[in-house]
Amino acid sequence: SKEIKVALAGNPNSGKTTAFNAITGARQHVGNYPGITVDKKEGFTKVGENRIHLIDLPGTYSLTAYTMEEIVARNVVADQRPDVVIDVLNAGALERNLYLAIQLMEMGAPIVLALNMMDEANKQGMKIDIDKLADLLNVPVVETVARTGEGIQELLTETVKCAAKNEGKKWEPLSISYGPDLDPALNKMVDLIEKNNLLTDRYPSRWTALKYLESDDEIMQLGREAHPVSAELEEVVKSVSKHLESTLATYPEAVIADYRYGYITSIIRQGVVTRLDAAADRV
Ligand code: GDP
Ligand code: MG
Repeated sequence: SKEIKVALAGNPNSGKTTAFNAITGARQHVGNYPGITVDKKEGFTKVGENRIHLIDLPGTYSLTAYTMEEIVARNVVADQRPDVVIDVLNAGALERNLYLAIQLMEMGAPIVLALNMMDEANKQGMKIDIDKLADLLNVPVVETVARTGEGIQELLTETVKCAAKNEGKKWEPLSISYGPDLDPALNKMVDLIEKNNLLTDRYPSRWTALKYLESDDEIMQLGREAHPVSAELEEVVKSVSKHLESTLATYPEAVIADYRYGYITSIIRQGVVTRLDAAADRV
């Protein structure tokens, strides 16, 4: 018997707490993260021979450093290295909910997507081709209705499979293009980061570079404390920012968000979501 460490992520109101309770029942414990007021909830369950240790991450829309919840969520992933991250999504708002999923994939964590609230999505006449979504994202996807427990067993089965498949393997962060203005800068920064091992024991190098471009205070502070090369990265960011401002009147963080949404949209538009009621709002 072995223990599989699983983190539960998701947007607020995606049904994360309901899923957590459906998975762990009464076998849970609420504490808090040292020094802050974010709850730390953990629980356990068994799947066959495997014991699952479930860590509830704070509900977040993103993994920036704007809120304590986002910082806690990404630090748990980076530091505790869960074997699998289950990301609970509101299936009815797939595009918006995938924004977090993409960022978890950019951190390199093996993830399983739980398309929750499928009852609501079906009621609205929405059909999701989960095999296609799984293929395009290259991650397992399971439909769930956390409120009734539907799909929870399958979610756990897929989680155990995902853990076995990734056991002992290096995390493989998703790498998406951020376009002609940012990609060259990102590549240059990745080179500097890897040559100098800047935070590389904790974060994927392209992820760290993106955080510099997003002006992420937490990561930049860690970077400055870790290595003088941080100043060179900040110079690259400055020059890219200046260029974007003068040519496109925009800034790196906005470009990054646009490309992330563009990546998601390009996947959804490949026939992942269809509406049976043609009059319904476009997803
Ligand atoms: P959290 O903010 O992600 O922790 O979301 P909660 O677990 O608190 O759920 C938010 C609301 O959605 C609650 O009223 C739940 O009962 C409800 N809910 C959770 N899962 C489902 C589901 O699969 N279908 C439906 N219809 N409602 C759900
Ligand atoms: Mg909750």
